[in-house]
Amino acid sequence: MKRSRIDSFIMQQEGLESLSRDIIRAIQLKKLNRLLSLEKERNGYYRDLPACLKSLDELATLPFTTDETLAHQAGQLLLLSQSRIRRVLSDATSGTTGAAKRVFYTEADLENTVRLYRAGLGELVFPGDRVMICFPFSGPQGLGELIAEAVSRLGAAPLKLGCGLSYGEYADVMEREKPDCFVGMPVQLLSLLRVCSRGSLRRALVSGDACPDAVIHCCEDLLGSRLFPHYGSREMGMAGAITCPAHAGMHLRENDIIAEIVDGYGRVLPEGEFGELVITTIGMEALPLIRYRTGDYTRVLPGVCPCGSEVLRLDSVTRLGQEQEMARLDGAVFTLEEVVDCRVKLDGAACAVEALVRDTLSAARLTAAVKSVFPEREVSVSIRSVLPEDHALYPGKRVCLSS
Ligand SMILES: [Zn+2]
Repeated sequence: MKRSRIDSFIMQQEGLESLSRDIIRAIQLKKLNRLLSLEKERNGYYRDLPACLKSLDELATLPFTTDETLAHQAGQLLLLSQSRIRRVLSDATSGTTGAAKRVFYTEADLENTVRLYRAGLGELVFPGDRVMICFPFSGPQGLGELIAEAVSRLGAAPLKLGCGLSYGEYADVMEREKPDCFVGMPVQLLSLLRVCSRGSLRRALVSGDACPDAVIHCCEDLLGSRLFPHYGSREMGMAGAITCPAHAGMHLRENDIIAEIVDGYGRVLPEGEFGELVITTIGMEALPLIRYRTGDYTRVLPGVCPCGSEVLRLDSVTRLGQEQEMARLDGAVFTLEEVVDCRVKLDGAACAVEALVRDTLSAARLTAAVKSVFPEREVSVSIRSVLPEDHALYPGKRVCLSS
C-alpha cells in the first residue's frame, strides 16, 4: 500500500530524508522550546512558563489555553506585528462572555495550509480532474480559495461553488461541469448524492463538520468509493489531519501540531482512549498556542498505520455538547434513505425534527429513528418533499438548536 502523503509533507517541510516517531518527537520538542524561550524573551503571554522543557512528557504540566484567552488576549498571544498578518478569523459567538475569538495568520501560515491541503487532496485528486468545492468563498485568502489553490497545484480544475446554492442549482452545475471530485461537508455530500445522484462524481474529501459513521457509509455506497475525511480547526490554520490510502484515521501534521487527549479533569489519556483534543500549535507563525482546549472529541489511534506511516492518527472527530448530539441523531436519521436533510430543535423534554425527503417517508419511521437516540424525549416530526429551490437546512456546522 502507498504510504500516506503526510510523510513526504513533513519530510519536505522539515528538510528530512526519513521519518520516525523519534524524529517527529525531536522536532516537536525543539520547536516547542524555541517558542517557550521566545515568549520569555519578548515577555509574551506565555512568559511565566519554563523557558525550556527536557522532554515532551513535561508538556502535560503546563496550563491550558482556552477560548476565553483567544477572545480577550489574542493581541498578547500574537507573536508578530499586525503588518505581517494576512488574515484574521473572528468568531463572534464563541466563549461564554460573548467576546469574539480571534485567530491571526501570516503568509507562511496560509502557505502551510495550502501545502497540507495539497497533500490531503493528492490522495484523491489527479491531474485533469474537475473538483467541486463546496466551502465558503469569503475573500482572497478564505477557506474556499486556499482549497482551490491546492487543487490547481495538483493540475486539476477547481469549481468554486461555495455552500449556498439550492439543490437545483447544484444539480445543474453537476450536469454541466461533470465534476470528478467533491470537497465539502459530509451531510452536504449525502444530500447532493440523494437529490442529484452521483452523476460524474467518483471521489470526495469531507471536512468542516462531524462525520457520523452512518453518513460516511451512506455516502460511500452511493459514490462507490471510500471517503477521505480531513480535520482542521481555525487555531491550526484550518488544516490539521488527512486521510491516507489505508483509510484508518487521519494523520496529523505533527511537525506543526502536538496533540494530547485529556479527560474531563484535564488529565492526559493514553492512546486509544476518547477525550477532548488539546493542541499545541508549534508551527503557527502568527499565533502559536500552548495546550489549547479545542472542545473537539476524539482519540489517538494506537500503533502504526497499515500504510506504514508512524505519524499519529486521529479517529473521527465530533464537537463536545449539542453538536455531538446532532451527530448521533444524524447517524440514526440518515440511515433512512429517503432523508435528504433534517433540522432539530430541543425545547425542554421536547424534540422537534423537520425533514426534507425524496419520495415519501412515514412519520412513524422518522419518529422511531429519532427515538432511538432520544428515548426520553417527546418527539414531533414534520416532513416534506424536497424541491429544486430548497437549500441545506444548516448553512454551516450542524447542531441541535435550542429555543
Ligand atoms: Zn496511513
